[in-house]
Amino acid sequence: MVLVYSDDHKLTLELLNKGSELARELNKSLTAVIIGKDEFSKDYIAHGADKVVIAETELNQFKAEEYTDILEGVIKETGSETILISSNKNGKELASRLAAKFKAGCITDCTNVYLKDKKLTAERIVYSGNAVAVEQFNTIPQIVTIPSKVFDPLPKDEKHKGEVIKKKIDVQKSSSKILKVQEMKTEGVNVEDAEIIVSCGRGFKNKEDIKLVSELADVLKGRTVGCSRPIAADLKWLSEDHWIGLSGHKVKPKLYIAAGISGQIQHIAGMRDSGVIVAINKDPEALIFKSADYGIVGDLYEVLPKLTDAIKTKMG
Ligand SMILES: Cc1cc2nc3c(=O)[nH]c(=O)nc-3n(C[C@H](O)[C@H](O)[C@H](O)COP(=O)(O)OP(=O)(O)OC[C@H]3O[C@@H](n4cnc5c(N)ncnc54)[C@H](O)[C@@H]3O)c2cc1C
Repeated sequence: MVLVYSDDHKLTLELLNKGSELARELNKSLTAVIIGKDEFSKDYIAHGADKVVIAETELNQFKAEEYTDILEGVIKETGSETILISSNKNGKELASRLAAKFKAGCITDCTNVYLKDKKLTAERIVYSGNAVAVEQFNTIPQIVTIPSKVFDPLPKDEKHKGEVIKKKIDVQKSSSKILKVQEMKTEGVNVEDAEIIVSCGRGFKNKEDIKLVSELADVLKGRTVGCSRPIAADLKWLSEDHWIGLSGHKVKPKLYIAAGISGQIQHIAGMRDSGVIVAINKDPEALIFKSADYGIVGDLYEVLPKLTDAIKTKMG
């Protein structure tokens, strides 16, 4: 049995794609788990789940200890051996706790998962993006976590049939309690879902100059501005929800324009799956050009306003 779980609906759909493939190759069925209210069971079945287990709980928010106990119960009851969990904050906490409970292996942040000689094999980027580790398990269950956007959801198939099973799993009261949940301060930007992103890097001399990328994003009707790590983490010119890369957000827009970004592997790791990549850099040897479909060698202070004007004229 292959089992997928995420507390995020969209990520569950992405996991179901890889889960379906593995289940088919292993000749097993695919189970999706919902903890709490059933909002999405039909959707999960239409995206490939053969079973949806709804674990009912009185908890009204994520609680790592209880959620781990619930998932442990479902895994044991369903006899699941291959577990795919989303690599978001809650998913990573759950996966590691589950692995400890089962004394099992756990491979986090996988960029690919497949069967090799019938053994589950996972790849993940290591050494700051300089190498890819290819790993297999010695234990069962096999737990992997997968970041968002690694796989697309399968197209919806309303004819796909599945079973919905409601379960009440008794869990021990945890030894910790949540006193307060404080939302992170963001500018409300969602780079992960953006179709067009214009990104800025250290090639910008001042915070005010970032308006050059916002203006280009505006005329492209993309309106989404991204950035490299130094702009968000060191200079704090933009909030962290703009930050793209290995330690930032992973994005997959149709168009990614990188201005004044050198193209270090840690930045590329977050945007390499973009449809079309355009790079603007004054250094013809800049690494970013190796990943770009179109490269403009020039000073961003000259190129960006010209590009914005040209697109404005073209688009009327
Ligand atoms: C563990 C780890 C995780 C990391 N995670 C991330 C991450 O998630 N995201 C990320 O981005 N980085 C990350 N980094 C940092 C990464 O290694 C780079 O340091 C960073 O991406 C560099 O940012 P940059 O390209 O904006 O700046 P720089 O490398 O300084 O590049 C600036 C570029 O601008 C060009 N330039 C300068 N002036 C102009 C001009 N007037 N016109 C045109 N071009 C100009 C230069 O030629 C240069 O290529 C991480 C590093 C580590 C070690």
